[in-house]
Amino acid sequence: MKLASVTVDGVRRAGLVGETERSITLLATAVDDVVRGAPPGERGEVLPLSEVRLESPLHRFNRDVLCTGWNYLDHFLESRGRREGQDPVAVPERPTFFTKGPDTVIGPTDPIAYDPALSVQWDYEAEIALVIGRDGRNIPEEKALDHVFGFLVANDVSQRDLQRAHGGQWLKGKSIDRTMPLGPWVTRTDSVDLTAMQVQCEVNGQLLQNASSAQMAFSFARIIAELSRGMTLRAGDVVLTGTPSGIGSARDPQLFLCDGDLVVTRASGLGELRNTVTLTDLSREGEGAEPRGEQ
Ligand code: MG
Repeated sequence: MKLASVTVDGVRRAGLVGETERSITLLATAVDDVVRGAPPGERGEVLPLSEVRLESPLHRFNRDVLCTGWNYLDHFLESRGRREGQDPVAVPERPTFFTKGPDTVIGPTDPIAYDPALSVQWDYEAEIALVIGRDGRNIPEEKALDHVFGFLVANDVSQRDLQRAHGGQWLKGKSIDRTMPLGPWVTRTDSVDLTAMQVQCEVNGQLLQNASSAQMAFSFARIIAELSRGMTLRAGDVVLTGTPSGIGSARDPQLFLCDGDLVVTRASGLGELRNTVTLTDLSREGEGAEPRGEQ
């Protein structure tokens, strides 16, 4: 089952994406409510997917998007010595966590905001994301997947110089407004082959990241178990699970995103995001991101 949020005649609607991914059956209940346990309600009109605009499936966030760092060992090793003082001493025994502000979230075809006045090192990170469907604390690894509602594709677009410029942290260079594509829909856990999802990122048609979820250092279940130790995870929480090797800042020569670049992010079985990097004035005072409504 694949749940999407779409715009129909200017109104946001939830829908069930058809098996062949060509049609969508509209639902009465918002995706944000379905992941929190509300019944999807009656099925309505069926529309061709090509005639609606896909949005981020999720719009109501309990808190920051929770993220995992260095979860593919090849990515950990490729960046060794390139982190300008942020290198840990050894390969981690536990996952590294950080967060991204919810105002980063954009839809599967929305422009990725790009402002070279803010940063000159915009990098891509293809990732599998999951959304929690059941509250829990100290969730044992063997029960962890029971707490997952479903999976999505995300791109953890990062500003490397902002990561370094503010004390070597992982917040500022990960939380710039309108930079994180999420979607294209939520695929229910029982419809996903968790052992071998292929994660890819293409920029302007060039395949730059390509890895299997089998290469993850910490499994989805382990991430949930570790993250929930002493800390309640709630239905609706979104967790990013890390990026494989091939990021721009670790390449030789380095490769950073520019205005006009087409970034395609995909994971097998979960769909594809197609976003164009687009010059945006993020330095203006007081404009802010679009308000986050209740739906
Ligand atoms: Mg990441």
